[in-house]
Amino acid sequence: MRLEGKVAVITGGASGIGRATVDKFVREGAKVLIADISLEAAERAVAEVDAAGHAGMTAACRVDVSDFAEVEQMVATAVSTFGKLDVIFNNAGIAGGTPLLDHDPAKDYVPMIRVDQDGVYYGILAAARQFRDQGTPGVIINTSSIYGEQAAELAFSYSAAKAAVISFTRSAAYELAEHGIRVVAITPGRVGTAIINQFSDELKTVFASEQLRNTMTQPSEIADVVAFLASDEANVINGTVVHVDDGYSVFKQRLD
Ligand code: NAD
Repeated sequence: MRLEGKVAVITGGASGIGRATVDKFVREGAKVLIADISLEAAERAVAEVDAAGHAGMTAACRVDVSDFAEVEQMVATAVSTFGKLDVIFNNAGIAGGTPLLDHDPAKDYVPMIRVDQDGVYYGILAAARQFRDQGTPGVIINTSSIYGEQAAELAFSYSAAKAAVISFTRSAAYELAEHGIRVVAITPGRVGTAIINQFSDELKTVFASEQLRNTMTQPSEIADVVAFLASDEANVINGTVVHVDDGYSVFKQRLD
C-alpha cells in the first residue's frame, strides 16, 4: 500500500500501459482518475476496477490531452472528485509514422506533436499549478519512449515528440523543485499493447528480439515501475529518465 491516501490522474488510462497502471495504483491504495479520449473505455475501466473489489477508488473522465483547457478541466475534476492531486502520469499517446519525404505536415507531423508532445506539456503545467496551489509536493511521471533517445524507421515525428518529453522532464524538475515537485520520464521499449498489437506476428517476434531477454514487456511490468516512481521510496529520482526497456537501449545486435 505504498500509495495509500494518494490521488492520481492517469492519462491514456483506459488502455495498455495506462490501464495496467490504474490497477497497480489502486492495489497500492491510490484513488485514480482514469482520463482518456474515449470516455466509454474509461468508464469500462472503472466498472472493471469496481468489479475487482475496489469500488469508489476510480472515476472516469474524457480528455483530449492536446487541448490545454480540457487538461486543466481534467485536473479540476480529480480535485473535485477526490479532494486533491498528488500524482499525474502523463502517458496518453499515439504512434505511427511515414517516411519523411512523403510527409504531409498537417497529417504526419502536427497531430503527433499535439498529442505526444503538447499533451505532456499541458499535463505538467496543469498539475504543477495544482500542486503549487495546494502547497503539497507532487510527482509528475511522463511517458517517453526508447525512440525519444534514438532515430528509428518511420518515427520522425514520434521521436521528436518523445525527445521533447525527456527535455520537459529535465527542465520541469529544475523549475519545480522549489515547490517540492518531482518529475521523472520513463522510456518503455517493446510493450504488448494496442500500439504493438497492430503489427504482424512476424514483426512482433522481431520487436521482442530487440530486448535483451527476447520477450515482449507486459504492461503490468511498466506499471510496477511507475508505482515505485510515484511513491516516496523513489524520492531521490528526479529530472531523469528511467529506462524500462529490458536492455533495448544498450543492445545492438545478436550474432546468431
Ligand atoms: P495504447 O494505445 O494501449 O494506450 C494509449 C491510450 O491513450 C489509449 O487509451 C488512447 O485512447 C489514449 N489516447 C490517445 N490519444 C489521446 C488523447 N489525445 N487524449 C487522451 N487520451 C488519448 O498504447 P500504450 O502502448 O499503452 O501507450 C501508452 C504510452 O506508452 C504512449 O505514450 C506510447 O507512446 C508509449 N510507449 C508505448 C510503447 C509500446 O511498446 N507499447 C513503447 C514506448 C512508448
